Amino acid sequence: MKKVTIIFALICLFVCFSNAKIFYANGSPDVKKVALTFDDGPGKATKRILEILKEKNVKATFFMLGVRVENDTETAKDVIAAGHEIGSHTYGHVNFYAYKSADKINKIEIEILQAKKIIKDKLGIDTYLMRFPYGYSKPEGLEVAQKQGYYVINWSFGMDWENVSAQEMRKRYKQAVKNGAIFLMHDFPKNDKILSFLGDFIEEIRTKGYEIVTVSELLDLKQK
Ligand SMILES: [Zn+2]
Repeated sequence: MKKVTIIFALICLFVCFSNAKIFYANGSPDVKKVALTFDDGPGKATKRILEILKEKNVKATFFMLGVRVENDTETAKDVIAAGHEIGSHTYGHVNFYAYKSADKINKIEIEILQAKKIIKDKLGIDTYLMRFPYGYSKPEGLEVAQKQGYYVINWSFGMDWENVSAQEMRKRYKQAVKNGAIFLMHDFPKNDKILSFLGDFIEEIRTKGYEIVTVSELLDLKQK
C-alpha cells in the first residue's frame, strides 16, 4: 500500500511539473481584477501614458522592445521610476508566424536573449514576463521562452491599432472589461486614439468595481 502511495505521489509530481503553466492570456475568472499592458515602447506615447497612469494612480505592465530600450533608455527608466512593471517584447519585433527560415528556433532564442541582456544592462531589471510580437504562441516559441526563464503573456482584448474611431475603440475596450482581463495597448502606437480615452477607461473600469493591477499580480507570478 505504502509503495503504491509513493508511486502515485511521484506520478503526480511529474505531471504537475511537466505541465507547469507558462502561457497566459487572462487571469482568474473568479476575481474582479484586470491588467493594462503597453507594447512596443519605449515610444512616442510613453510619456503621456505615464502622466495619465500617474494621475489615476494605476500601475501597468510595459512589454518593451530591446531595440527601443537601447535607443531611448531614458524613457524606459522613467517607466521604472514610476513604479510600473517591465516585461520583454523581444529585441526587434520579428514576426515568428511569418518567419520560415531553418534557423527559426535559434532566431527566437537570439531575439529573447538580446532583449533580456539589454534590459538588464541598461535598466538593471531581470525580466521574467515576456510577450512575443503578434502574440506568437506556438509550442516551439513557448519552449524557448520557458528555457530562458520566461512566462509568456498574451491578452484577452486589444485593438488600438485598428482603423475605427476613438469613440468606437473606447466602447469596445469598455465592453471587454471582465474578471481577469488583460488589455493590450501600445505606447509606440499606430495612432493616438487611446490617449484620448485612457483616463476615462480607467475610471470606467473602477466604476464597474474592478481593481487594476500589474500582470504579475493578476497572475500571481514571480521570478522563477
Ligand atoms: Zn508588438
